[in-house]
Amino acid sequence: CRTAVRLPGVESVSVIALEDWAEMPADDAEIEDAVDEGVHFLPRKGTRRIVGSSSVEGIEVVGVKSVFDDQGRFSPVYNEEDLIVVPVDSVVLAIGQSIDTAFISGEHDSIIGRNGVIRANMSDMSTGIPGVFAAGDVVTGPRIFIEAIAAGQSAAASVHRYLSQKETPKTIFGVSTAIEHRGAPTPVWPVDCNVDGYYTIPRQNPQLLKPEFRRTNFELAELSFTEEEARSQASRCLTCHVNPIFVGDKCIMCGGCVDVCPEFALKMIPLSEVDLDIPKSADVLSGFIGVEKARLGETEVLQELGRSTAMIWDGARCIRCGLCAKRCPTGAITMEYLEIKQEVTHT
Ligand code: SF4
Ligand code: SF4
Repeated sequence: CRTAVRLPGVESVSVIALEDWAEMPADDAEIEDAVDEGVHFLPRKGTRRIVGSSSVEGIEVVGVKSVFDDQGRFSPVYNEEDLIVVPVDSVVLAIGQSIDTAFISGEHDSIIGRNGVIRANMSDMSTGIPGVFAAGDVVTGPRIFIEAIAAGQSAAASVHRYLSQKETPKTIFGVSTAIEHRGAPTPVWPVDCNVDGYYTIPRQNPQLLKPEFRRTNFELAELSFTEEEARSQASRCLTCHVNPIFVGDKCIMCGGCVDVCPEFALKMIPLSEVDLDIPKSADVLSGFIGVEKARLGETEVLQELGRSTAMIWDGARCIRCGLCAKRCPTGAITMEYLEIKQEVTHT
């Protein structure tokens, strides 16, 4: 729609969308910028037919009661009594993208899975057809770019192995490096703690050309950050590959880390409240009292568990400020910088 509104001679552009404002799959910023440029949205409307005798005169649209079912699957329900004709003289179909697997012949169509994706073994991206590998959105459906790159790399290694008939041993391992604390630059962590920046520097978007100007041309609408703005925004980075690591044996249960955490990411709870159905929680208990014993729920066992404490860290809330590590009087918490490394041995 933002291309259509820029074309010479176009007076107005309307978007007929099945979804309501909150459900539309476009980014909020794209929708806001389109509205600013004069695009008119008709949310919760479905198209029925194009109206006109010798040329397009309008499009009949029907109201939409809901777009997704209770399980979140695409299943639009229409209100057939809510029919209107929107006068238009051109219709542009915008129906999204889908996977085109037409090149896969009938004898191999068993590799096509649900929703038209190609089935592939995610460990080596092989498809079951000798010498054919697949990677990316065509296998997983829409995912982030970096996942497609990783899958492409895995597929490339498999192709090499297939063609050369040689193994390419690969080892993936994590290296965790303790940082003295986030406030003290060290040789492995040369950036000072930026939690203040995260709180004090507001998030900004790049400047946009004014709508009345940008809708007249195809110039880049979004201007870049200035160097100063870019540096300021980059300094909000919380470097979340740095994590607080807890050493239970050193902890004296003083609760200082819980008190100081600005995001309430830490909690100390009696072991008896640990949810045994969460696999990692069960791991903790298996080294302590045994999951099976804990599951029995006997009074004695619960009392024993109730006297011991588990530290719960919520990685999604944690902003990696390092305040817990600074507060800990026994050094039971270190902030550690995690790198994932991969070594490939070419033979
Ligand atoms: S690093 Fe900061 S946010 Fe994360 S648990 Fe420690 S005090 Fe809380
Ligand atoms: S501050 Fe250190 S010793 Fe105190 S509860 Fe937290 S981890 Fe344990």
